[in-house]
Amino acid sequence: MTRKIRTRIAPSPTGFLHLGTARTALYSWAYARHHGGEFVLRIEDTDVARSTQDSVDQILAAMQWLGLDSDEGPIYQMQRLDRYREVVDRMLAEGTAYRCYCTPDELEDMREAQRARGEKTHYDGRWRPEPNKALPAPPDGVQPVIRFRNPADGVVTWDDLVKGPISIANREIDDLVIMRADGVPTYNFAVVVDDSDMDITHVFRGDEHVNNTPWQINIFNALGAPLPLFGHLPVILGDDGQKLSKRRGAVSVTAYRDTGYLPEAMLNYLARLGWSHGDDELFTREQLVQWFDGTHLSKSPAQWDPAKLSWVNAHYLKTIDEARLASLVAEQLERRGVAAPVDRVRPLCALFKDRCTTTAELADWLAMYFADVAPSVEDLAAHVTEAVKPAIAGLRDTLASVEWNKSAINAAIKQTIAAHGLKMPQLAHAVRVLVCGRAQTPSIDAVLELFPRETVVSRLQKA
Ligand code: GLU
Repeated sequence: MTRKIRTRIAPSPTGFLHLGTARTALYSWAYARHHGGEFVLRIEDTDVARSTQDSVDQILAAMQWLGLDSDEGPIYQMQRLDRYREVVDRMLAEGTAYRCYCTPDELEDMREAQRARGEKTHYDGRWRPEPNKALPAPPDGVQPVIRFRNPADGVVTWDDLVKGPISIANREIDDLVIMRADGVPTYNFAVVVDDSDMDITHVFRGDEHVNNTPWQINIFNALGAPLPLFGHLPVILGDDGQKLSKRRGAVSVTAYRDTGYLPEAMLNYLARLGWSHGDDELFTREQLVQWFDGTHLSKSPAQWDPAKLSWVNAHYLKTIDEARLASLVAEQLERRGVAAPVDRVRPLCALFKDRCTTTAELADWLAMYFADVAPSVEDLAAHVTEAVKPAIAGLRDTLASVEWNKSAINAAIKQTIAAHGLKMPQLAHAVRVLVCGRAQTPSIDAVLELFPRETVVSRLQKA
């Protein structure tokens, strides 16, 4: 019988959901959805000292924002300690795991001696049971850790979904601690118990776990559990060709949300980063699900490209529902303490969205409609000159009574420049500086029309 396809994402809540994990989550989710399978969210919180609730909250928020809905979870490993203990007890009884009483000092001495001999450091197997081997007597007062009794020889091989066949000799791998003295399991053990209990068929994860996979396969085998398929995704590199990391300017998924990226753009961009479907650069969530069958995954590292992400975001900014765009921009304005009713924001977005790549940039433009502007001294000096001031006063008087629409405003401006012998840019720049707080804007009549008349008149008063 073929197994139902089940994938998972298993973030550790020791920081924000970073972009690499988000991409892995996306691929796992899309793969499950493509096959009509299920997607599980598991929080790997066994690193008690570094796991935080804040980080869990951020991860959940990021997943929700990206629309990566799970069929099960969040499942927390720390709520499954009894289950790990149960499996350990079974392995102890079956001889696939054993108690090791080495103290940290002893282990350090062991490594020290190995280094001194020029050997690679490894656990020397002193508590590993062997036929006809006499083990030392357990010392008093030492709580043992549990180690996996890794097969001594043979080769672990798997056909990686991304990297192709990989083999590692068992003699390269030592007996790993699977449960600490306090009863908390280590990653490589808990992950196997969970992937097995949760009936996971496909494990996608970052490259950095390739070296863990042989241990995990050996533990699956020791448990007699069916193996999932593994796909290890290459790292994402930053602009500088180094692995994207917190220190290298990588920010969290939620930071992109907060700085005005759209989830559909992020999803689209992340999907393309390490996977392709012909030459398609822009595609919907539905198309991704339809196309994502686990093939065409890139073996080489992807390069994070902020300019491309902006391009993708700009595309979605132009195409999304206007009411939704308006409410996102209103939120951005609210973040900067500017209250803006959504129904007023909507026509404003229509005028500015073509020149913006994020909702934050849109908010930068729109703030002038809802809050005072502060033109710079340089702009005032350059554009609001003595030569132009009489024309500004004339325009202000005309605008006080014209019909309030673009063509009437345009006629008033033209009439003013003719009356004062000015060129269009001279007056338009001055008006922009005074009313908008900057010298460059879209067409001035279109920009002014969207202000209340009183605002325009009173800002022109300041010349
Ligand atoms: N908790 C691990 C991590 O965040 C999960 C790795 C895996 O998917 O097995 O890297």
